[in-house]
Amino acid sequence: MSQKMKTEAVAKTRKILADRGLRTTAARLAVVHWLQKANSPATHAEIAADLVPKGIDKATVLRNLTDLVEAGLVTRKELGDHVWRFELRDESHPVGCEHAHFICVDCGRVTCLHQLEMSASVMKSLQEVGQVTEILVRGHCDECR
Ligand SMILES: [Zn+2]
Ligand SMILES: [Zn+2]
Repeated sequence: MSQKMKTEAVAKTRKILADRGLRTTAARLAVVHWLQKANSPATHAEIAADLVPKGIDKATVLRNLTDLVEAGLVTRKELGDHVWRFELRDESHPVGCEHAHFICVDCGRVTCLHQLEMSASVMKSLQEVGQVTEILVRGHCDECR
């Protein structure tokens, strides 16, 4: 990334944080930028594994993740394997109507299913059952099958 792009990315993130009433700290920036680069939900351990060598301790990573969840910028999900995973919230979707996820029951790998659209009739029948908080598909990923 060029220095100019880097500066612009920081300014953009600073604004996103400020809009939610969060102060921009080096650790918070690092966590947000990590999540922006990720293409699937990640665990605290996975995020910390990259950030601890940069001088941000595990507790700080977790505290920042929690702050971002409370501010509504990040979602925290438990996909049936008792592990919390974090991902940036899809701002284009209302809360509870975000993209679905596929989890491999063998290796635990999670894949975002951005293409899987729930039709209005499917959403309506789901709403008759209750409030949907997560759409989850389970199976064996290509590598495990
Ligand atoms: Zn797998
Ligand atoms: Zn996702």
